[in-house]
Amino acid sequence: MTDAAPGHTGGCLCGAVRYRAAGEPIAVSHCHCGMCRKASGGPFLAFARFAASDVTFTKGQPALFRSSESAVRGFCRRCGGQLTFQFDHLRDTISVSLGSLDRPEALPPTQHLWTDSQIGWLDLDDGLPRRPGPSDLAPAGKA
Ligand SMILES: [Zn+2]
Ligand SMILES: [Zn+2]
Repeated sequence: MTDAAPGHTGGCLCGAVRYRAAGEPIAVSHCHCGMCRKASGGPFLAFARFAASDVTFTKGQPALFRSSESAVRGFCRRCGGQLTFQFDHLRDTISVSLGSLDRPEALPPTQHLWTDSQIGWLDLDDGLPRRPGPSDLAPAGKA
């Protein structure tokens, strides 16, 4: 694992699953949907979406959980760390959780999604665009 190579590396808390994302992400977003909240245990999740062909697992593989009829989430079966999110209709892209990146500072989010579901006491004044619902990539009417 050399951090000198281009791209972004990351992994779960225990280190059983490691990945490298080559190149730069297509989008970086905060998500305030209730499923991201439950999956992460935190008040919201953030993801960087890459071309699926750019993301390779360099150690282990995530376990998969179908969190809705339109998407699957990947996590470490050992430590439970949330790692990936992928829409069924967009299998050519995959999102990795920003918190699993070794250097999340390198990928600042550019938007908030599902702000209608944002926790009321969460006060975020970062000036980023806020979408009340899903990203424009989600299947119509679904999360
Ligand atoms: Zn782990
Ligand atoms: Zn979400």
